[in-house]
Amino acid sequence: MTVPITDKTPRRLEINKAGGKMVADYWERIFTARERGEKVVWYNGSAVNPIFQAAGLAWCHGEAFSARLAAQHLEVPAQLAGQEYGYVGELCSYARTHLGCAVLSQKRASGAGQTGGWQGSASATGTGVIGLPEQEELASRLPTPDFFVNAYAGCSTGQQWDDISFRVFGKQVPVFNVSMPYMWSNRPGEGYMVGEEWETSSRYVRDQLRELITFIEEMTGRPFDWDAYRQNMAHIKRASELRREAMALCRLTPTPATFWDWIANVAHINFLPASQELVDFFAAVKAEISHRVAEGVGALPSERYRVYFDGFMNWNKLGFLAKKFASHDVAVVAGRYNEHAFWQEPQLIDVEDPLLGQAQNHLLCPMNHATKTIEQLVLRDCENYNVDGIVFHSTRTCRAFTNPQRLVARAAQKKLGLSSMFFEGDIADASFYKDEILESRLAAMLEGIDVRRARVGDPR
Ligand code: SF4
Repeated sequence: MTVPITDKTPRRLEINKAGGKMVADYWERIFTARERGEKVVWYNGSAVNPIFQAAGLAWCHGEAFSARLAAQHLEVPAQLAGQEYGYVGELCSYARTHLGCAVLSQKRASGAGQTGGWQGSASATGTGVIGLPEQEELASRLPTPDFFVNAYAGCSTGQQWDDISFRVFGKQVPVFNVSMPYMWSNRPGEGYMVGEEWETSSRYVRDQLRELITFIEEMTGRPFDWDAYRQNMAHIKRASELRREAMALCRLTPTPATFWDWIANVAHINFLPASQELVDFFAAVKAEISHRVAEGVGALPSERYRVYFDGFMNWNKLGFLAKKFASHDVAVVAGRYNEHAFWQEPQLIDVEDPLLGQAQNHLLCPMNHATKTIEQLVLRDCENYNVDGIVFHSTRTCRAFTNPQRLVARAAQKKLGLSSMFFEGDIADASFYKDEILESRLAAMLEGIDVRRARVGDPR
């Protein structure tokens, strides 16, 4: 299955190429963390990492590593290891991949006779330890954890993920769970960032983050560095502001960057170290986009349709889908995944006392709202970005994201007259993607948009 390279190939943001090296360097530091005597935490869900960073830990985000493997088409060895261990193919492919990594990294650590961490410290740079071809060994390179932290909002699979990893590691690695309440917003006066439920839940999670810090002090044997934490959160806040300002520029027509560009730098805002380098990176992203706006350069050579993307990213298909939509002159301008996650409300962060703002950003995960709120947010985005339709990615093994999609599609049609389409795929398992379905449904949606335009005399 190939998408022809045509003169419609999208113009990727140049800065994302430099950004790719930042991510590769980060993972290399994780793989070699034990050589520097660092303790290792595995975590899932919310971006708790500014706390880990202040505590001098090496942090490994489970979804992020699964996404990296899938984006490099190297996820299969981990998924096979997970399958062999007993995890069925319908289990969330992020979790399945990462559990496979747990099996492989444990095998590697014990095979290498390491000391430190759970089974021992990794000299994790060797190859051939578990008999896989070198290229496939990436899945086994995570250093085994000293402890787990789970802070997953909006999904029961996510909330149990580290409990399962705990079992893979023989029930000997401590786990700290941060309980994340779902934001129902049922009572009058409640909704997105307002109401009693919001206030109570925010304080509830903040207090747990405080307890997490006490737990980390016990794990490391060191007092927590609050100054370093405040500095980290100041960097996160500034990086996020720059990111949000740059994203807002994509409301212009033609859009200077696409959803796919924002996906390519999700890692940076989600888990790279909070630093001046991170701030500079997003300043450079904004500068490149501003330059395109000033020059009137769009991300697509030809932008005829603008659509919104609802669903988790299909990491196996990032470049493929970017080219696919561009080949139909479709600019995918924004999506629930990149708009409503990753420190998207930086104004909540008080840099002098950032714990509450951190907790609140964690609660605002795009899956952690009732459908009413998701509908409001998605429709607001659709108006802001002036889109013609919505593309729904039905992620086969992530029902937390797909649950409200039919209702949102119906509301978008009824309230804004927007067309929509659904396509099958998955976050990290390429076998669920069906190209013919995407092609036929995209063609039908674009035809519907053309008919609507003709009816109102829109010449595009
Ligand atoms: S099912 Fe979806 S939301 Fe739940 S853990 Fe997997 S990827 Fe995350």
